[in-house]
Amino acid sequence: MIRKFISRVLRGKKPAARFGEPAVIPVSSHGITRDRLSSGSRRTCEGLQAAGFKAYVVGGAVRDLLIGAEPKDFDVATDATPEEVRRCFRRSRIIGRRFQIVHVMMGQEVIEVTTFRGQLDENTKTDEHGRVLHDNVFGTQAEDAARRDFTANALYYDPSSETVLDYHHGVGDLKAKTLRMIGEPRARYREDPVRMLRAVRLAAKLGLSIDPAAKKPIREMADLLENVPAARLFDEMLKLLTSGHSVKCITQLRDEGLHHGLLPLLDVILEQPMGEKFVMLALANTDERVRRGKGTSPGFLFATLLWHEVLAHWDKLKAKGESKIPALFQAMDTVLDVQGEKLAITRRIAGDIKDIWALQPRFEQRAGKRPYALLEHPRFRAGYDFLLLRAQAGELDMDVVEWWSHFQNADGEKRGQMLLPDTGADKKKRRRRRKKPAGESVDRSDAA
Ligand code: ATP
Ligand code: MG
Repeated sequence: MIRKFISRVLRGKKPAARFGEPAVIPVSSHGITRDRLSSGSRRTCEGLQAAGFKAYVVGGAVRDLLIGAEPKDFDVATDATPEEVRRCFRRSRIIGRRFQIVHVMMGQEVIEVTTFRGQLDENTKTDEHGRVLHDNVFGTQAEDAARRDFTANALYYDPSSETVLDYHHGVGDLKAKTLRMIGEPRARYREDPVRMLRAVRLAAKLGLSIDPAAKKPIREMADLLENVPAARLFDEMLKLLTSGHSVKCITQLRDEGLHHGLLPLLDVILEQPMGEKFVMLALANTDERVRRGKGTSPGFLFATLLWHEVLAHWDKLKAKGESKIPALFQAMDTVLDVQGEKLAITRRIAGDIKDIWALQPRFEQRAGKRPYALLEHPRFRAGYDFLLLRAQAGELDMDVVEWWSHFQNADGEKRGQMLLPDTGADKKKRRRRRKKPAGESVDRSDAA
């Protein structure tokens, strides 16, 4: 009673719109038994229900189980307030300031528990383009369902009865392989332009086609992505690139005209034949890794996406007479400045990206002691994988890659035999560096 009152107060005075009752789909029809859930999410629902609250596994996990895919994570939605959730579980904490959610720790698992969100109304704060800025009202389950993006994402699974509550015909849409927006697509994209990216990513990942009504406005509304905070775009891009379907996603982004606002230069890169070949190879490679359950590093991914921009800047600077290595570092900084601003590439990831790029010229040196030093570099493996991609894309000779793969695996004596003759130029460079005063010796030319 009190809870109902509080949620009404939180929602403001506007009477709740009427939403239809959900279809209740029994296990005999959908076939998802409770043992398919992670034990953490099941126990979280049980704990909340035992305390008298509603609790469901919701969103992507239910959708993925219905189409026979492995869910990435299991989120829980409830009518308990964050404070009430926290009181139910000893190992839990409230996170987020505006819209609080609770992390419940169950063994190794962290379950994200969200209180049902209320509908948007005239008091909802938006920016001048209609993007919702504050989203912090609690509501009923039906309102929560209507706030979700696609019908297939508005499904609630109750572990105690093993039923699925379907508010927007999501199960039928999934069967028909359609990704359908809840509500009027234009309005929903205006509220949150990231939904355009989510449409492309989810359709590619799940093998669904975007319903024409949701697909059509994307091209016209693509520019709205420019107003989305960089950190959110970065998160979404990362999800997209590590979905295991990045080739499909990027191709579709391009088809929908969505690539302009994301990586400002991605369209340029994709239009250069060499750039496109390199990026597509890199993405195919990442997809393969994701599907085999191997990890992917964001640094490596972004290093590949931006490499041809670096090459273009680097060439320009060299043509102006800059020497090779300082020109490379200058080009790297320029590209990261431009892209980093749009995508909020974190400092740590930017560091990884630079390491990978800076190692590239060092692979050309196969004489003297330098190859040994390179092998010891903490980023050697990433640098080598990057080199391999460059060779596969036809940017450099495969001989160099083969040399390095043998050199890595050879024993001490064999390695010595593999070294190329030290040319006079190399020796001279080293002599020059030795003469520099202490402190300057670990400079960028070391990367040469
Ligand atoms: P994934 O498989 O990538 O996790 P997901 O659909 O589960 O896909 P999440 O980001 O985990 O995506 O979001 C969980 C749920 O929250 C979604 O299923 C959807 O119901 C809701 N949701 C997420 N983002 C939005 C959004 N931008 N607008 C409306 N609802 C959203
Ligand atoms: Mg999810």
